[in-house]
Amino acid sequence: MSENIERIKCVIIGSGPAGYTAAIYAARADLKPVIYTGMEMGGQLTTTTEVDNFPGYPEGVEGPKLMEDLKAQAERFETQVRFGSVTKIDFSDVPGGIHTLEIDGSKKIEAETVIIATGASAKYLGLPSEQRLRGGGVSACATCDGFFYRNQDVIVVGGGDTAAEEATYLAKLCKKVTLLLRRDELRASKAMQNRVFNTPNLEVLFNTEIDEVLGEKTVEGVRVINNKTKEKKDIPVTGVFIAIGHKPNTELFVGQLDMDDNKYLITKGKSSKTNKPGVFACGDVQDHEYRQAISAAGSGCMAALDAERYLGSIE
Ligand code: NDP
Repeated sequence: MSENIERIKCVIIGSGPAGYTAAIYAARADLKPVIYTGMEMGGQLTTTTEVDNFPGYPEGVEGPKLMEDLKAQAERFETQVRFGSVTKIDFSDVPGGIHTLEIDGSKKIEAETVIIATGASAKYLGLPSEQRLRGGGVSACATCDGFFYRNQDVIVVGGGDTAAEEATYLAKLCKKVTLLLRRDELRASKAMQNRVFNTPNLEVLFNTEIDEVLGEKTVEGVRVINNKTKEKKDIPVTGVFIAIGHKPNTELFVGQLDMDDNKYLITKGKSSKTNKPGVFACGDVQDHEYRQAISAAGSGCMAALDAERYLGSIE
C-alpha cells in the first residue's frame, strides 16, 4: 500500500436502496464499508413522492424519508457515508488484488472489494415543462406512482416493452390511458402489443409527441403534436408517464466490466459477482427487469454477502 493512500475493505458506489442495504450487511459483517453517494444522494427514490410498496411501512413513506431511514440504519453500524463521486476506477484482475479508485477527480483510495450500486436513470424527453412538473404529475415509474391516479386520465409516452407494460398496468387503475407513439408502430413484443390493443380503456395515438406539458404546479393536460400533419391538440390528463427507457449508470466501467447490449452490468448466475474478482454489482445497474426498491435492496444484501465470502476465501 502506498503510504498516503487510504485502504478500504469494502467500497460501495451508489446510495440507493441497493447501496444502503449492501452497507447495512457489510457493516454488520465488520467490513467497515464506505459509501460514495454520487451526486444524487439517495438515488431515484428521492425524486418520488410516496412509496407505498416498500415492506415495513404500512402507511407508505415519502421516497426521501425512506432513503434517510436507510442511510441512518447503515450509519448505525458505522458505515461511512461520504458525499462524492467515483470519477475513475481501475479494477484488479487477480483474486485478492487491490482496486484503485479516484474520488471527485483528485483523491485516490484503494479497495479490497467494490460493490457497484450506481443504479439506472430514467430517460426523459427533455422538455422544460416536463422537467418543471416532475413530482407534480410527471413520473417515470407507473408501479411507483400509478396508484395516485386511480380513476383519472393519464398519458404514457413510449413504444417499447416498458411503455406497453406501464400503459396496461395503468389501464387497470385509471379511467383512461392514452399511449403516445412517435412512430406508426410499437417496438414492444407482439405479446405486449396484443395486450395494448386489447385493452378497452387504452387508446394509442400514432405519430404523436408531446409538445408541452400543461399546468403550473401540477399536470392539467398535455399539448400533443402529430409529427406528420403538424396538427396540435390538448388532452386533459392529471398524470404523464414517460417510459422511453432507462440508462444504466455504467460509463465508468466501460472496457473493464462485462455489460449486455444495453450497457447493464452482467452478474454471474444468481450471484452479484462481476467478471472481476472482488467486484460485485447490485440494484438497477444490473437489473433492467424488476427495477423495484425492494428487489434492489435484496440484491444489495446479496452483494454484501458475496463480498464477505470473497474476503473470507482469500484470507
Ligand atoms: P426501448 O428502448 O425498448 O423503447 C424505448 C421506446 O421509447 C421506443 O418505442 C422509442 O421509440 C421511444 N422513445 C425513445 N425516445 C423517445 C422520445 N424522445 N420521444 C418519444 N418516444 C421515444 O426501452 P424499454 O424501456 O421499453 O425496454 C428496454 C429493454 O428492456 C428492452 O430490451 C425491452 O424488451 C426490455 N423490457 C422487457 C420487459 C419484459 O420482457 N417484460 C419489460 C420492460 C422492458 P422508437 O420505437 O420510435 O425508437
